[in-house]
Amino acid sequence: MAKAINIPFIYEEYNRPEDLNPDDRELILTARDAALKAYAPYSGFLVGAAVRLNSGKIVVGTNVENAAFPSGICAERNALSNASANHPDDIPVALAIAAATADGMDAGPVSPCGNCRQVIAEEEYRSGKNIRILLSGKDKIQIIEKGGELLPLQFNRNNLKLNPR
Ligand SMILES: [Zn+2]
Repeated sequence: MAKAINIPFIYEEYNRPEDLNPDDRELILTARDAALKAYAPYSGFLVGAAVRLNSGKIVVGTNVENAAFPSGICAERNALSNASANHPDDIPVALAIAAATADGMDAGPVSPCGNCRQVIAEEEYRSGKNIRILLSGKDKIQIIEKGGELLPLQFNRNNLKLNPR
């Protein structure tokens, strides 16, 4: 007899950055600024990410494309790698993502790709803390309280039986 398992998924939606708390608003606006610095000559799809660290510091990343397409990297992984390399003891607590088209128009809200979801989940395991995900759009901002919820039944360190939490 099969058992149906329901995984609940709840997120918040806002219409304007002005409705957010000041920290979230700052993070969203920083991600939007970062998007305009993306290197995306092939897709014309500019993505910016801003990571809030526990200290309050913000680290940004953009997508960086490459003529050899798989060599490109997403904004989210760029920002999280930057944070890990430069602030290894300061854990990420929030990540805002914004996207723009080549003419600078807001193209969000867009959600992190599967690769980035996997990296977000790893960071949550690494620190033992949730990472809030803020998806920026012109008329809609979506907030997910725990990034790992974007990757149900995820592969993680417990599968490797290494240092399970
Ligand atoms: Zn990605």
